[in-house]
Amino acid sequence: MEQLYRETWIEVDKEAIKQNVASLDRLHHGERQIMAVVKANGYGHGAIEVAKAALDGGATVLGTALLEEAIELREDGIVAPIVVLGRTDASGAGVAAKLDIALATFQREWLVSAKEHIEPGHSLKLHVKYDTGMGRIGVRSIEEVQEVLTAIDEESCLELEGLFTHFATADELDLTYYKEQQHRFDELVNVLKSENRQIPLIHCANSAASMRFKDACYNMVRFGISMYGLLPATDLEAELPFSLAPALSLYSHLSHVKHVNSGSKISYGGTYTATQDEWIGTVPIGYGDGWIRSNANGGEVIIDGVRLPIIGRICMDQMMVRLPKEMPVGKRVTLIGEDNKERITIEEIADRLGTITYEIPCLITNRVPRRYVQKTLS
Ligand SMILES: *Cc1c(COP(=O)(O)O)cnc(C)c1O
Repeated sequence: MEQLYRETWIEVDKEAIKQNVASLDRLHHGERQIMAVVKANGYGHGAIEVAKAALDGGATVLGTALLEEAIELREDGIVAPIVVLGRTDASGAGVAAKLDIALATFQREWLVSAKEHIEPGHSLKLHVKYDTGMGRIGVRSIEEVQEVLTAIDEESCLELEGLFTHFATADELDLTYYKEQQHRFDELVNVLKSENRQIPLIHCANSAASMRFKDACYNMVRFGISMYGLLPATDLEAELPFSLAPALSLYSHLSHVKHVNSGSKISYGGTYTATQDEWIGTVPIGYGDGWIRSNANGGEVIIDGVRLPIIGRICMDQMMVRLPKEMPVGKRVTLIGEDNKERITIEEIADRLGTITYEIPCLITNRVPRRYVQKTLS
């Protein structure tokens, strides 16, 4: 393994990922394929290691947003089916066909252009995207879906592998809009069934839908955020059929410890003033690592099982915390995760920052090394 000098790192527990996939598989009685969604470098966790853990846990398909992300998995030797869920430029059709990577499609002109890039002897697998109400990408009417399907039928180098849609509100407590979208998708599937159309993979559910509406998932679910052990929405915990095991922890250490007199100012702008003689610790992580400045607004870290406040402004590479007493340089600091029964969750941080769980691990840049462990979970 490559030598790491930096003592700020993310730890990803591959066992947690396996367990979350296995829990979902159990909920669905092993009857549905599970696509592990590993876009955006596996939601910041590391796409390749997450993909391998998910496949170990029972996932059978991998999902990315970009063709580049799919190619990276293939180049690492991963042979599982891969679907690119976003739009790919038609010029990518050739390499996708060659590497057996399925692409999403929803434009007839795109099909015309894509087939020009496919070498003789290869064929491109396609998943037709139906927009039932997300308003992002996808065909908007049943007639247009039929046109796209006919265009695929007409080309021997194009192969229909899937049909899918994406929900805008499956993680909300109010189910009205989710039900409308589900109804529109069911309607399309029924029309295609009545025409005896064979579509190997029909999928609509993201994490929230796959856990809450398990009987409406057709034959594959797309498991993203909750595969990482995170809630799709922080008010959804009571709605979920099994508990999630968070995979990501973020650790650093004390790089400097000092005693300051009452009245001393700390960090840029001098916004923090010690109100008494205090012990201050420096932690080598900052907004240049994606640990954004707003983490200072009420944010805490854990040392020895005790929560301690982040004080003053967060710098690009460092920040300061107030210590209860003198502590040695090198002491472990937990920013996300558990230390001696005290825990800081990504849900807590997302709520404090006024954002969603998804954004927190995605923010942590590649300057922070990812280390992988396999913990045995209780
Ligand atoms: C990202 C994404 C998912 C995964 O959603 P989660 O809420 O993270 O489970 C599923 N489907 C599509 C099309 C996506 O873009």
